[in-house]
Amino acid sequence: DAKEIERILHPQGDKSEEIYPKEFVTFIHDLTKTHDFHPVRIILNIMENAHVLEHEKKLLFVVDMLFERQLRTKESNESQSLKLWIILFILREVFKFVDSKKEENKEPKELLDIFMKNLLVQNPEDLIKKNSELLLRNAVRAFPYHHSILFQTLAKSVAKVQFGNLPTCHKLILYSLFGPRFAETSKFCMTCGVSSAKKACPKCKTPYCCPECQKLDWPFHKKCCDEIAKRPKIESSIKELSEDELKSMIRPNSEDE
Ligand SMILES: [Zn+2]
Ligand SMILES: [Zn+2]
Repeated sequence: DAKEIERILHPQGDKSEEIYPKEFVTFIHDLTKTHDFHPVRIILNIMENAHVLEHEKKLLFVVDMLFERQLRTKESNESQSLKLWIILFILREVFKFVDSKKEENKEPKELLDIFMKNLLVQNPEDLIKKNSELLLRNAVRAFPYHHSILFQTLAKSVAKVQFGNLPTCHKLILYSLFGPRFAETSKFCMTCGVSSAKKACPKCKTPYCCPECQKLDWPFHKKCCDEIAKRPKIESSIKELSEDELKSMIRPNSEDE
């Protein structure tokens, strides 16, 4: 919670060597408690909170600490660990990219924008956004605690889907973190992955959470919109997994989340 983040940032309270602004604590708290771990959502959040870029290393440090602590607590929560890991992995990749391009005289915000747009790339024949898929698959693959049952079932279900096919890794992660009801009944924004997508492309019905997300995706979407509109609806693609596979992904108390 926020108090824990506060303690990691300021181990000596007001007398700590460095004092971080309140909004930094709030940012980390929001980042780690949400259902929205999609890489584009994370980047958009960083862009909206540019102050975070001044404390890049500290942000990684805190999320890493939260992740490690989650694993070591007595009532360790597997889904919380997995989610924190995915957020940590995405942040590391994003900042690795930003740091590697700093010499090119570009503003960090501009670099975040480049990284994000690369995740949105989609070609007419593509069912999914492949760069985003690859990033999330890599995140799952790199999860360091292989004895986690949740991780094992997720990794298995991801491996069953051929790269480029549906369901996306994003959806499989949502499925294992928050349960089938959430994954199946929500519409996820094509751009940023949030679950409350109430808008849709008028032609092909691709869901979006807001006009901004639709606008961001338009340069890529306009090339595949016709193709998508022509396709039979494969939205319930998660059903392509066998009954047993689905059951193995449902944990006892995931139903109510
Ligand atoms: Zn969105
Ligand atoms: Zn469309």
